[in-house]
Amino acid sequence: MNFPIKKFFSYYKPYLGLYLSILTCAFIVSGLTLVFPLLVRYVTKDVLAGDLTTALTKVYWIGGLMLVIIALENIGNFFVDYKGHEVGARMESDMRSELFAHIQKLSFSFFDKEKTGKLMSRITNDLLLLSELYHHGPEDYVKYSVRFIGAFVILFFINAPLTIAVFCFLPFLGVFALFFNKILNRAMNRNKERIADVNAQVEDSLAGIRVVKSFANEHVEVEKFNRANTRFFDSRKSTYRAEAYFYNGIQMFIQLITFTVVIFGSASIVHHTLDLADLITFLLYIGFMIEPIQRLTHMSTQFQEGITGFQRFMEIMNLQPAIENPPNPFTLPNVRGELAFNHVSFRYEDHLKDVLQDLSLHVKPGEYVAVVGPSGAGKTTLCSLIPRFYDVTAGEVLLDGINVKEMDLQSLRNSIGIVQQDVYLFDGTVIENIRYGHPDASDEEVIHAAKRANAHDFILSLPDGYHAEIGQRGVRLSGGQKQRISIARVFLKNPPLLILDEATSALDNESESIIKESLESLAQGRTTLVIAHRLSTIRNAQRIIVLTDGGITEQGTHDSLLAKGGAYSNLYSKQFEMHV
Ligand code: ADP
Ligand code: MG
Repeated sequence: MNFPIKKFFSYYKPYLGLYLSILTCAFIVSGLTLVFPLLVRYVTKDVLAGDLTTALTKVYWIGGLMLVIIALENIGNFFVDYKGHEVGARMESDMRSELFAHIQKLSFSFFDKEKTGKLMSRITNDLLLLSELYHHGPEDYVKYSVRFIGAFVILFFINAPLTIAVFCFLPFLGVFALFFNKILNRAMNRNKERIADVNAQVEDSLAGIRVVKSFANEHVEVEKFNRANTRFFDSRKSTYRAEAYFYNGIQMFIQLITFTVVIFGSASIVHHTLDLADLITFLLYIGFMIEPIQRLTHMSTQFQEGITGFQRFMEIMNLQPAIENPPNPFTLPNVRGELAFNHVSFRYEDHLKDVLQDLSLHVKPGEYVAVVGPSGAGKTTLCSLIPRFYDVTAGEVLLDGINVKEMDLQSLRNSIGIVQQDVYLFDGTVIENIRYGHPDASDEEVIHAAKRANAHDFILSLPDGYHAEIGQRGVRLSGGQKQRISIARVFLKNPPLLILDEATSALDNESESIIKESLESLAQGRTTLVIAHRLSTIRNAQRIIVLTDGGITEQGTHDSLLAKGGAYSNLYSKQFEMHV
């Protein structure tokens, strides 16, 4: 296992001073706890067994010292507990921000493969476990080794044979604790998996609630849910059984050791090799020897979980974005919007076949070009090469004569507006969602964009107008309304290049005609690529490109292509037949 130790410890760096003071404090506090039984011993052995006339004064002094120790110990423990957890949580929060920022930078090819749920659990759970390790790991190590070694040494000096007798139990206790700890761990992991199943089931059923109800399948969902829920219950039951074994077992060891100390100790008292005060001291120290072993086994779990969490964290942090800003990026001050594909081939990662093959295309600034073709032909893929969502496998894509790979990624993407069939709106208000296209835009500019997108009127009819909450993913809006907001977003962005990918395909006729109008006004003065499913919508494009199976088979105007009687006229007559 190749563990990046340096990287692991580097996260302590900003808090090193604080954390070292926490460790020092933990060390002192553990030392102090060792003193307490010694004071009890002193009182019972030396003070109360000596001259009783002065005893009470001494007891008061010792009592005062005890109070001081109690106070110091509690103040110290408070500091260690509170600040220690805080440092752990800070480190966790740093790492979480770093991870999220890194994931944001990764390319589409990464998101094509990774499941969102898995990424979410990395950002939340994995790091939570890690913070426990960061905080408790070194601290517990210091605390419990001081206690264990301290107690052992003190008891050894008081009475070696009895100490060794107690010590003999510890390997057994260790094996017992490790064994049940393992079982307990497995059970807890199973719990986590099963509660995740329950959550997934809830999420799936609720996200698809419209489908559930339209099929009147509530009972099916309830059954699926109950299965997951029962499995979770079963797993919890076995966890509780393992817990009961574990904690009662430890308790039994404590009792057995106490029993041994009492029996052997009493025998020793009878044989005058031990006195009563020492026996009491022994009993007081037993916990000091047992607790560290119990904690140590727990720490081994924490350690494993934390290390695994860290490795999973690093797995993502080590991924380089497939597409990054070039070393000396080129920024165009004014994009005219001339587009060229030169012998472009493209294939998705892990795919056997090229989606596009040796494709060449030239689009003049301000030209309105339609791309048509059967579904799966590669129309969306072709367009996604322009903003570098993916990089070409061969050939080049040029914007204003410059290879997009040499351009500054942010300015490249800022010069392209995309309207798609699926609209994604963020949780928040209407105005926030439109402003996403241009975060510095004034309210007036937002309203102007909304007007041009034919969205102003319906927005005003919403309960809070522009400040209406649209609900997660815009559930409170109709498909056409969502699309108009997304168009307003692009109006505000004001890019010289426009890609309309089946923007009206999912809409009814009425919304379609309103949206077509706003899209036409959006396309004014911009280079536009429009992908359309319904050929009737692109009849007046300046040029129509027919894409089939990786390449351009035909291009020309609607009339010339119809006259030609090739692929386009076939597609067209098929649709025409369907619509009669
Ligand atoms: P169109 O937009 O013309 O319907 P696409 O460009 O979406 O076609 O898809 C072209 C081909 O590429 C299809 O065979 C599709 O299955 C495949 N494809 C699309 N997106 C991905 C992806 N992210 N990963 C792998 N294959 C993809
Ligand atoms: Mg498509």
